[in-house]
Amino acid sequence: MTKHYDLIAIGGGSGGISAVERAAKYGAKCALIEQGKMGGTCVNVGCVPKKVMWFGAHVAHTLSIASNYGFDVDVKNFSWDTLVKAREKYIAGINNWYHTYLKDSDIDEISGTARLLGRSFSKNSVEVNGQQFTADHLVIAPGGFPIVPEIKGADLGMTSDGFFALTEQPKRVAVVGGGYIAVELAGVLNTLGTDVDLLLRRQHFLAQLDTSVRDALMEEMANNGVNVLPSISISSISKTDSGKLNISCQGGHELKDFDTVIWATGRAPNTLDLGLDKAGVAMDKSGFIPVDKFQNTNVSGIYAIGDVTGQAALTPVAIAAGRRLSDRLFNNQPERHLDYDNIPTVVFSHPPIGTIGLTEEEARELHGDAVKVYSTQFTNMYYALTDHKQKTVMKLVTVGAKEKIVGCHIIGQGADEMLQGFAVAIKMGATKADFDNTVAIHPTSAEELVTLR
Ligand SMILES: Cc1cc2nc3c(=O)[nH]c(=O)nc-3n(C[C@H](O)[C@H](O)[C@H](O)COP(=O)(O)OP(=O)(O)OC[C@H]3O[C@@H](n4cnc5c(N)ncnc54)[C@H](O)[C@@H]3O)c2cc1C
Repeated sequence: MTKHYDLIAIGGGSGGISAVERAAKYGAKCALIEQGKMGGTCVNVGCVPKKVMWFGAHVAHTLSIASNYGFDVDVKNFSWDTLVKAREKYIAGINNWYHTYLKDSDIDEISGTARLLGRSFSKNSVEVNGQQFTADHLVIAPGGFPIVPEIKGADLGMTSDGFFALTEQPKRVAVVGGGYIAVELAGVLNTLGTDVDLLLRRQHFLAQLDTSVRDALMEEMANNGVNVLPSISISSISKTDSGKLNISCQGGHELKDFDTVIWATGRAPNTLDLGLDKAGVAMDKSGFIPVDKFQNTNVSGIYAIGDVTGQAALTPVAIAAGRRLSDRLFNNQPERHLDYDNIPTVVFSHPPIGTIGLTEEEARELHGDAVKVYSTQFTNMYYALTDHKQKTVMKLVTVGAKEKIVGCHIIGQGADEMLQGFAVAIKMGATKADFDNTVAIHPTSAEELVTLR
C-alpha cells in the first residue's frame, strides 16, 4: 500500500534533516529516507570527524610549544587508535540521537535507497525497498561523494571517506588536491606526525581565496614541514613488493614510498541512480540539480537543497536552505529563501582561515578604483614566547566613499571562531567606520580588525 506524506526528503544529511524537522514543527506529516548513517556526510565523514581530528592536531601543537611556557612535558606516545575510537563513539552518539529525535518529532524514518518513479505513477512517487511512498512536496538532498580520478592504479589510493576509516596512523602520505579538504587533511596528518606531501595540479591551493591568506598558509605549511609540490600531473600509481605506493608524474618524475595516497580531488552529486529522469527533473552536465532562489527544480513540487545543487557545499548552507524551504511551504512565508551572498566559511588548516565576501581581486574586477583595502600582519601574542613565530594576516576589502565592507579575510590562531560575529556585521552592510566605532577587546587578535589603518 502506498503511504502519502505532506513532505518526503531524500537524504538524511544536513539538508534533508533540516527540511523535515522544520516542516514537522509546523504540523506537516514528514518522512526522511536515508540509505546510510543518519546525519549524512557532515556527521559521519565530513565536518564532525574532521574537526575532532583537527582538535587532536591542536593538542599536538600545544604540546609542541608547552616548554616555551615552562612545562616540562614528556610526550611518550600518540595513539591514533584511541583518538579514532573516541571520535567514532562520539559520532555513534549523534547518529543515535537523530533516530530518537526523529521519532519524538513524529517524522517517519525510512531506511534504504530512494528512487523517483516519475509521473506515470501518482504525484511525487518514490520507491524504497520495493515499497511506494508519495508526497505533496519532495525534497531531494542526497549530497555527494568524493571523486577518484581516472588514472591507472587510482584505486590503490583512498578518498576522505577512507581517511576517516583509517585505524592506524600512516607514516608517509601523499594528499592529492588543492581544495579545502586536501589542505585540511594534509594539515591534520602533518601536525599529528605523519610525513606529508601535498600534490597540487596548479601553482597554488585554495584558488578561490584571497591571495593574502592563501600565500600565508602556503608559507606556514612549508614551515611546518608539509612538502607542498605545485604543478604536479599524476599519470599512474603503483604498488611495490613491500606494499608502498609510488606515484608516477607526467614528465617522468616519480614520488616514492607512500603508505597512503589520499585523493581530495573534488566531489560529485549523488544523482546517478535517483531516477530523476523518470520524474523529468533536470540536471546539469555534471549531475547537479539546478534550482531557482526558492530551491525549486524545473518540476513543480520537487525541490533540491544542499550539495546536490552545486552551490556553496557547506553544512550550514544546506541547513539554512532546508529550513527556509519548509518555512515557505508550511508556514505561509511565500518569499522566504536563502540569500547565497556573503556566506562565511572557515578552512580548518594550521592555522585556520576565516573568510567572507569578495577577495581583493574579485572586488577590483567588479568595482575598479572604488576599492580600498586595509590589511595587517603580526605575530599573535600566543607565539610571543615561542621559538616558532606563527603569522596572523588580516584583510578588509571595502568599496565606495562609505567604505562598505565587501570582504574580510583572516588567517591565524582563532580565525575560526573570530569570523562569525564579524560576518553578522558584514551581512548587515557594515562600513569601515562601523568597525572603527566599535571599541576593541584587548588583548586579542580580533581587535586588529577594528583598529586597521
Ligand atoms: C571531508 C569533509 C569535510 C567537510 N567539512 C565541512 C566543514 O568543516 N564545514 C561545513 O560547513 N561543511 C563541511 N563539509 C561539507 C558538508 O559535509 C556538506 O556540505 C553537507 O554535508 C551537505 O549536506 P547535504 O544534506 O547536501 O548532503 P549530505 O550530508 O551528504 O547527506 C546526503 C545523504 O543522502 C543520502 N542519500 C544519497 N542518495 C540517497 C538515496 N537515493 N536514497 C536515500 N538516501 C540517499 C546519503 O547517504 C547521505 O547520508 C565537509 C565535507 C567533507 C567531505
